[in-house]
Amino acid sequence: MTSAVRTIGFKPHERNIFFHLLTACNLSCRHCYINPTQHGSNMVSRQTMDDWLALFYEPGKESNVIFLGGEPTLHPDLAHGVKTAQRLGYRSVTVDTNGFLHHNLLAKIGPEEAVLSFSLDGPSPEINDPIRGQGVFKTCSENLKEAARLGFRISVIYTVSRLNIGHLHRMPRLLADWGVNRFFIQVIGLRGKSAGGAGSELQLTPEQWLTTVPPIAAKAADLGLDVIYPKVFLDPGERFECAGRVAENFFIFPNGRVYRCPLCEDYPLHALRIENNRLAKNDGITEERLFTLSIPEGCVMNKLLQPGNLSYNADGTPKHRISCCLLKQQIKR
Ligand code: SF4
Ligand code: SF4
Repeated sequence: MTSAVRTIGFKPHERNIFFHLLTACNLSCRHCYINPTQHGSNMVSRQTMDDWLALFYEPGKESNVIFLGGEPTLHPDLAHGVKTAQRLGYRSVTVDTNGFLHHNLLAKIGPEEAVLSFSLDGPSPEINDPIRGQGVFKTCSENLKEAARLGFRISVIYTVSRLNIGHLHRMPRLLADWGVNRFFIQVIGLRGKSAGGAGSELQLTPEQWLTTVPPIAAKAADLGLDVIYPKVFLDPGERFECAGRVAENFFIFPNGRVYRCPLCEDYPLHALRIENNRLAKNDGITEERLFTLSIPEGCVMNKLLQPGNLSYNADGTPKHRISCCLLKQQIKR
C-alpha cells in the first residue's frame, strides 16, 4: 500500500489558537516545556476563557483552538470552554491531555465537540513511565480506549528523544488496535525543563531522526493512521518560511502573554499581550524582530537556542537547513 507524504504549508486563511488555560499539572514529565517563571501559576477564569476565545475568533478565517496547560483538564470549566468555542464557530477544537481527564471530561462533552489528543512517550509502562511518571501509561491508555469507545476522534503525541526512539516502531500497531485516528510524532525541543542541562542529551542527531521517523511514519500510515511529524530539515532547494511572518498562530498564556513562535516561550520576547481583553503589541525587542532575519541555516530561533543541532560543510555552508518548527509533514494512506 502506498502512502503520500506532503508538507502542510502555512495557510493565510487559517488561524490557530494555542490556549494555555493554566500552567499547573498533576504530572512532572522529564521534558516538560512549561515555564512558570515566564507564564506564572494562574488559571484563567471562566469569564476570561470566554472573553479570550471571542477575542481570537476571526469569522473570515478558519479558526482552530487547541486547549493546553499544564494539564487543561484540571480546569473545572474546560467543558464550558469547549462548548463556547463550538458556539463561536471555531472550525476545530482540540484538548491536549496527559490522559488523566480530570473533572470527568468524557461525561461533559460529546465526541463531536472536541478531538482528544493524548500524550504518550512509549508503547509500554517500562518505556513511558520513566519519562512521564509512575502509573501514567495505564491511566492514559485506559482513558484513551474509553474515549475511543465513546466515539471521540483520538490523536496521540509521542515526543521522540534518545530515551524512546528505539521503541517508536512499536507504536503504530498499538495505536491502530486502540482505534487512534492520528499519530503526531513530535521532536523533543529545548524548552522548559529540557532547556537546562540534560535536555541536549535527549536530543536526536539529524541522522537518527531522518533514518527512523519517516519510515515508521509511513508504516503507521499504512495501518490507516493519519500521521504528522515536524519537517525539521528542509530538502535541498526547498523554500524556508517563518510561520511568525506568514501564518497566524497565537500561543496564549494565562498571564496574558501572547507569542507567535513557541520556541520563544522561555523568554519575555512575546510580540503581543492581552490587556483589558484587547490585544496589544509590545514595543522593543520582541520575537517579531527575529522573524525578519534571514540566515542560511533557516530558523533563527533554532540557531540561537540549539546551535548544537547545526553542522557545517568545509566551505562554511550548513549541512542542513532547519525548517520552522511549525512546518509539518503529513502522511495519509
Ligand atoms: S503532562 Fe504536559 S504539562 Fe504536565 S508535566 Fe507532562 S509535559 Fe508538562
Ligand atoms: S520556529 Fe523559527 S521559523 Fe518558526 S516561527 Fe519561530 S522563529 Fe520563525
